[in-house]
Amino acid sequence: MTPFNINKIRSEFPILSEKAYGKPLVYFDNAASSQKPKVVIDALVDYYSSYNANIHRGVHFLSQKASAAFDAVREKVKTFINATSEREIIFVRGTTEAINLVASTYGRKNIGQGDEILISAMEHHSNIVPWQMLCEEKGAVLKVIPMNEKGELMMNELPALLTEKTKFVSVVHISNSLGTINPVKEIIRQAHAKGIPVLVDGAQSTAHEIIDVQDLDADFFTFSGHKILGPTGVGCLYGKLHLLEAMPPYHGGGEMISSVSFEKTTYNEVPFKFEAGTPNIADVIALGTAIDYWNQLDRQAVSAWEKELLNYATKLISEIPAVRLIGTAENKASVISFVIEGVNALDAGMFLDTKGIAVRTGHHCTEPVMQFFKIPGTLRASFMFYNTKEEIDSLVENLTKAIALLQPHSVA
Ligand code: PMP
Repeated sequence: MTPFNINKIRSEFPILSEKAYGKPLVYFDNAASSQKPKVVIDALVDYYSSYNANIHRGVHFLSQKASAAFDAVREKVKTFINATSEREIIFVRGTTEAINLVASTYGRKNIGQGDEILISAMEHHSNIVPWQMLCEEKGAVLKVIPMNEKGELMMNELPALLTEKTKFVSVVHISNSLGTINPVKEIIRQAHAKGIPVLVDGAQSTAHEIIDVQDLDADFFTFSGHKILGPTGVGCLYGKLHLLEAMPPYHGGGEMISSVSFEKTTYNEVPFKFEAGTPNIADVIALGTAIDYWNQLDRQAVSAWEKELLNYATKLISEIPAVRLIGTAENKASVISFVIEGVNALDAGMFLDTKGIAVRTGHHCTEPVMQFFKIPGTLRASFMFYNTKEEIDSLVENLTKAIALLQPHSVA
């Protein structure tokens, strides 16, 4: 039993009635990108077909309408993540750009030779590489909070890793490859006790948790629109206003300036200081529609259903003899990653694909996680509230077939 009308919800996502190779589509690649409800798709079409214009500069009707729709989204995001001011919301392309922005501005200004930046063992490449680039440039050192065999951060190591040299902490809220929900509030508490600011990578968590940046006390928080029912190419960086105000700009160009002469340029106020050029107007507006969609959902019921899907899939998949789960944290989101003894994850993924089942295989942009578990990659099924137990049954049935077909000893 679903705690809400799942058929109605599914009917709101056009793609869920599509077929792949003539078979009903089973979409289990939600951690890579979520599907979009029709209202979000319609918002894009509506913008381009009825009020497409550049914003903030035009005196004409279309520009004013587009500007109002665009500006309203900042307020929606503010409420969605409980920021204190809409000025704390910066529109970016996604989590990757948000982290690069912080590394290039806050990081370049505040991190120097011999300083330490602390990340965790389960970061996505986008929360590793920008910091490595900064370390290379500044002669700073990247430190890592280790994890255990279950894929949980070893919190007992944290106090010793937060030293007088630590100038920044950047951690993932929910791991995309393991599903672990990290105790970010506690990490922030400990870092703040030593005066160290913290960025939380919310790329996965924003789709599965109710985000409250004030309650977390995060200094920076990032998310991507495409993982929360919105379009690609848009995401948000939240930053505490006093930090954003003290940061130098990121990209130079129009919109981010207050005045320009050949002698001197002065910068616009936050958030515009960080939004050079024509923004992604259509996608920002459609992100606002995605947030409206979240707001009319019963988030508690959605969470309960995702938990039920996770428990159901975990039980069935772990019962398959050749399967080893990767990521068995106590506190997990609806992501299940596993390897199959004697079967290449890619081969199994391709077999499932022929049955219309979309899963992800590989390192999921978390190569250090794969190195830790000494595996080349996993097969990952990630669920969203619009998924069903019948779809999981289909995954399990076809996985069993894939193993029978692909395991070497079953060939004879
Ligand atoms: N962090 C995590 C935990 C992710 O899952 C992802 C996307 N897979 C990213 C960062 C990067 O997000 P994007 O590609 O939307 O910038």
